[in-house]
Amino acid sequence: MSAVAPATVYVAPIVTMDAAAPDAEAFAVHGGRIVAVGTVDAVRTAVPDAGLEELDGVVLPGLIDAHMHMERAGLKALDYVSDEDDVDTYMQRMRDSFHDDGPEDPPFEDRIRALERVQPLLHSLGITGVIDPAVTIDEMRGYQEAHRRGLLTMRTVAMPFLDIGTPRFPDVDAAIEHLDGTGVSTGFGDDMLRIGPIKVYADGEALKGQALLEQPWDDSGYTGLQRLSDDDFTRLVEWCGAHGWGVGTHAVGGGAVALLARAYATAGDAVAARRFQAIHAYLEPGDAAIRALAEIGTIASLQPSIIWHNGAGLRAKLGDRAESANPVRSWLDAGAVLALGSDGPFFAFDPRHLMWQTITRRIAGEDEPLSMAEAITIEEALAGYTTGAAYASLAERDRGAIRVGMLADWALWSDDPRTVATDDLRTLAVRRTDVGGRTVHGGDS
Ligand SMILES: [Zn+2]
Repeated sequence: MSAVAPATVYVAPIVTMDAAAPDAEAFAVHGGRIVAVGTVDAVRTAVPDAGLEELDGVVLPGLIDAHMHMERAGLKALDYVSDEDDVDTYMQRMRDSFHDDGPEDPPFEDRIRALERVQPLLHSLGITGVIDPAVTIDEMRGYQEAHRRGLLTMRTVAMPFLDIGTPRFPDVDAAIEHLDGTGVSTGFGDDMLRIGPIKVYADGEALKGQALLEQPWDDSGYTGLQRLSDDDFTRLVEWCGAHGWGVGTHAVGGGAVALLARAYATAGDAVAARRFQAIHAYLEPGDAAIRALAEIGTIASLQPSIIWHNGAGLRAKLGDRAESANPVRSWLDAGAVLALGSDGPFFAFDPRHLMWQTITRRIAGEDEPLSMAEAITIEEALAGYTTGAAYASLAERDRGAIRVGMLADWALWSDDPRTVATDDLRTLAVRRTDVGGRTVHGGDS
């Protein structure tokens, strides 16, 4: 083995996302970690023997998509794009193939190739980490093998998917037995691949009328689909809380969010420690449930992409009730940690577009935005993609900011997202992306 490469000092305006020092002029990287941040003089003094590189652009921490089905995205990429295609082509093809879930039971080697195909596309959007929110047993094998071969360049938190009510997991007891089987639990892994909370479903999809609401969908009195009974769900949550497992629950409607508030309260300190998530949580969640979930440390894992895509359909179905959909402001004001994500590849997953959406509340195909009362700022949106998503990844000490001691995950943007006109956010370019000090997109190498 050769000696560790010498340190490098990078000089550029830096958006650190470190509240104690939000801006800097330079940072130094050594051994894959950030070893100094500050003024050019201070960083050069701290690392006197380092090489120096001036960067043309603005440095941000690598973004983390807190809800990206990356392996499935890769399998779809194998079908729809070639190695030469860029991310714009990929995103267009994913829009056009929205209803294709990808191959059902692909050959194992395709899973590795899938990850090799999709990671560079995501890195070209400044993304250095994902939380894959529903990892099947086969997908987990794919991730583990890609990591073993040194092919994983995206820091991945994999949430084991327990599809309760299917032959593999007929009921909650079968799910618990499965989780109990190996002794590992949420948090196990390393900086590249870590096991996250489990993923379960409390209700269905909004546009299918299956979100569990507190007020009926229409005059029929129908309130939606509850996938697990209160008793079953609470039993699972309680067991997880007592056995080291976090829980991330698909809960679209207010009725499902209220169910989470009741059940998560039984898991005590584990809710914060194991990063329990309320996932989607965008259709009429009640104030009391939002407050209760935020207070015990539940992460709001929200996807502006879904409301961008479904907003017009929800207006058609629910009228004015759709205006408050995806209440990101309410979750933040209640004190919840916000982790933004895309639900890609099925929904739009360009973080520039999604940050713009949370600020403007615009929806596809309509001129009028949804109610601006739920809009957030660019700083809050950036935090959702960096510090908040890092926290959801159990990695707040290592990722999400340009700070001494953190992993050297960063991207070089053409301008500062905090200061450009909101509409220009979507056309900012990502010129280079590094993961752990290694360039994975752009740059000179
Ligand atoms: Zn999803």
